Amino acid sequence: MIRYNHLNKFEIFLIVIAIYPGSFDPITLGHLDIIERGSRLFGIVIVAVLRNPNKTPLFTVQQRLEQISLSTQHLPNVEVDSFDGLTVGYAKMRGAQALLRGLRAISDFEVELQMAHTNKTLSTQIETVFLATSNEYSFLSSSVVREVARFGGSVDHLVPSHVALDIYQCYAQNHPVSNPIKTEVI
Ligand code: ADP
Repeated sequence: MIRYNHLNKFEIFLIVIAIYPGSFDPITLGHLDIIERGSRLFGIVIVAVLRNPNKTPLFTVQQRLEQISLSTQHLPNVEVDSFDGLTVGYAKMRGAQALLRGLRAISDFEVELQMAHTNKTLSTQIETVFLATSNEYSFLSSSVVREVARFGGSVDHLVPSHVALDIYQCYAQNHPVSNPIKTEVI
């Protein structure tokens, strides 16, 4: 049953824009899962890479933008961009109504809730929307990926395949160890 007779044409076609901010250094399958699910909920999802001069990243902002663009090319309503300064300021500038965030564990919850409350004090118009991680990615973070790769482990099951290649190149590892435990000499 159609329940939106009272809306005018403009209101019916109002598109909710969500910003998914993060460092994505690099993008993981956990991030991608949130982006894919978010793209089914929102009209447009803008994946926004934070330019943070205080951090020394594994990949440059440009490399991360390319990695995310390639990973999301099957999603027509997903856009990739970078920003600096306050996320809320960027969201306003892009005309977004929502900030999309992922929740993995209690530790995420505390930080994310504090951030959401802070952002609410900066703009009452922008809502933070949390998506719970999918079970299979609940342990996964960019730092876990970097750590595994740094010690020669395979990250093929943690990131999109082209990102895995970038990572191996970065650590100059052409032959990652797919199961380090099996290779141990006992
Ligand atoms: P990370 O925490 O991996 O370094 P970011 O800072 O780029 O990644 O995180 C951006 C957002 O994505 C945060 O809201 C974070 O909680 C969420 N996120 C990261 N990894 C996952 C995952 N595996 N499942 C769900 N959400 C995630």
